[in-house]
Amino acid sequence: MKPVIALVGRPNVGKSTLFNRLTRTRDALVADLPGLTRDRHYGEGRVGSRPYLVVDTGGFEPVAKDGILHEMARQTRQAVEESDVIVFIVDGRNGLAPQDKTIADYLRKSGRPIVLVVNKAEGMRYSAVAADFYELGLGDPRAISSAHGDGVTETIDDALAIAYAGRPEEDDEAANTRGTKIAIVGRPNVGKSTLVNTLIGEERVIAFDMPGTTRDSIHVEFERQGRPYTLIDTAGLRRRGRVFEAIEKFSVVKTLQSISDANVVILLLDAQQDVSEQDAHIAGFVVEQGRALVVGVNKWDGLDSHARDRIKHDMQRKLKFLDFAKFHFVSAKENTGIGALMRSVDEAYAAAMAKLPTPRLTRALIDAVQFQQPRRKGPVRPKLRYAHQGGQNPPIIVVHGNALDAITDAYKRYLEGRFRETFGLTGTPLRIEFRSSQ
Ligand code: GDP
Ligand code: GDP
Repeated sequence: MKPVIALVGRPNVGKSTLFNRLTRTRDALVADLPGLTRDRHYGEGRVGSRPYLVVDTGGFEPVAKDGILHEMARQTRQAVEESDVIVFIVDGRNGLAPQDKTIADYLRKSGRPIVLVVNKAEGMRYSAVAADFYELGLGDPRAISSAHGDGVTETIDDALAIAYAGRPEEDDEAANTRGTKIAIVGRPNVGKSTLVNTLIGEERVIAFDMPGTTRDSIHVEFERQGRPYTLIDTAGLRRRGRVFEAIEKFSVVKTLQSISDANVVILLLDAQQDVSEQDAHIAGFVVEQGRALVVGVNKWDGLDSHARDRIKHDMQRKLKFLDFAKFHFVSAKENTGIGALMRSVDEAYAAAMAKLPTPRLTRALIDAVQFQQPRRKGPVRPKLRYAHQGGQNPPIIVVHGNALDAITDAYKRYLEGRFRETFGLTGTPLRIEFRSSQ
């Protein structure tokens, strides 16, 4: 599981500026997807070999009793409780504000480790910036500038050292699971627990592991048609007797963690409700993470053909950025469509893990260019020479050549389509990176 860093602080201290800086490399990878809906409060970052999830908790209003501010405060508290480390941001230009003290008290009570940073410190002397904030009782503050980037990497390094302390190496974790790792995600009440129970009747469960603390996930190994799977479920299921049931309020953080830990995500939607912004945000995160995806449109039972047409149309409109994924219309309760859904899971896994040999990739590239050349940009025409595979889950295809920064998004999508067709890549995002040799 990737550790979670929560950015906390009162409004205007620079949380979203810092968030954008931490997640920017991911942004660049998915920026050109038409219709992609993104939640700017949750993202992924990486320092060296250490990935992490980062949450911008928004404006912190601990005093609000009800209304929208109250709900924001609830989500903030949840993010704080679920984080591995808190980056508490204060404003070096404004100095200490009364609200900073309230927040500091609250954070201390949460028991989570805290890294205190004074933002907007560019061009200021450390002693002058820091002096005000010792009073918070959180030790030496770090001075950073989110806008300019000063001190940001060092701060995240420190936060990650805390978050990763005592964690097993990634290889150990991987060795503990068998088969395709699946996450079943979706809004509350779409039918996740019902699907889990349908998928893995008691007899199919091989191993069931629920480590002692509530912060850990439940992993369930099971077999279907002789194939092994591990269900990654951090969306909050617990086992009562023979069945699994939801234990807690919907958690965005845990949903994101299970997505990033899975090979294939099953995104469940409720056919009896419209596609919501939350559905689209979860889908957006699957794409950003590059996870293979199968969409299950659940509760298909009991709908007339008019309702079915309407929901299909709604999905095509709101989720068009998921055109790489298969949609299945299922009933978890009545166990219809589940076999086909799982076949698509297998297909998506195979695509995500496909080995794409350089000669075949290069052949496909050259064929694609012969069929349709990239446009000139001014006097230069991009020249595409060869391609190799740069990664799996998602597959990354690295295209080499000259003047490749002149390649348009439309041409990139054209190439993606050609590669998908040639290699039969259904159900996984595909990333194409360009590397110019001059
Ligand atoms: P949030 O409300 O905590 O998310 O704060 P924002 O990220 O929206 O930033 C609030 C304001 O502070 C914006 O006008 C930013 O441009 C500015 N700001 C953010 N970081 C810095 C910084 O490092 N230095 C300076 N001078 N301004 C900053
Ligand atoms: P979760 O919160 O996503 O885990 O959702 P649950 O599995 O607890 O299901 C929420 C409600 O939807 C329950 O009342 C289920 O009985 C119902 N439900 C789940 N799957 C189906 C289905 O395929 N068809 C219908 N009609 N109801 C379903």
